[in-house]
Amino acid sequence: MQPYTLIRRQRKTLAMKLDKDGNITVIAPLYLPQLEIEAFILAHTDWLTKKRAELAAKNPLPSLTLSEGEKIPFFGKEYALYFWSKRSVKVQQDYIYLPKANAKNALISFYRKALKEYILSKIPDYAQTMGVQPTKIRINSARTRWGSCSVNDALNFSYHLVMCDQFAVQYVVIHELCHILHKNHSQAFWNTVAAYCPDYKAAKHYLKQKLYYMEIL
Ligand SMILES: [Zn+2]
Repeated sequence: MQPYTLIRRQRKTLAMKLDKDGNITVIAPLYLPQLEIEAFILAHTDWLTKKRAELAAKNPLPSLTLSEGEKIPFFGKEYALYFWSKRSVKVQQDYIYLPKANAKNALISFYRKALKEYILSKIPDYAQTMGVQPTKIRINSARTRWGSCSVNDALNFSYHLVMCDQFAVQYVVIHELCHILHKNHSQAFWNTVAAYCPDYKAAKHYLKQKLYYMEIL
């Protein structure tokens, strides 16, 4: 049973609410048996999960502090930070090893490099099947958009994208490559996106939930 705060009142029906921290309060009639109250909460499990996800999206995590043990996302998985004496950055099992001095810059340059390598490994195949050729691939520090395509077909990707699951990164790559064919978000553009990325709607939804990644580092 999920923990909850119970308030009993002179009323006929049950009501439930979540506060901004995701805590449950149930308002129940004075003599309603506890079993019925808990059955009511159980019956609303899906509703609670959905509401909590909405809250999480609305109340983003504060910025990363880059302290030892802190969980940080990398390609959709959480890793614990671990400081070591070397200057390099390494990902191994559940850990990201970071130098203590200049940790933030070290992490960002590692993220930029990892994202660029991943994108460069994907582009040739996509570009060939789609019959397009980007003029340049750049990684930037954008905080308002995951990717963009310039008028002369240079593609830019925000390093924050590296925190996202690979299926979402692939979608952003396809999205920007499609802008080489369509410099807008017309129906024709979305049809092309759908042809190369059938689950693009799930990726768009996922990226909306992860917008706060652009604020935390
Ligand atoms: Zn676009």
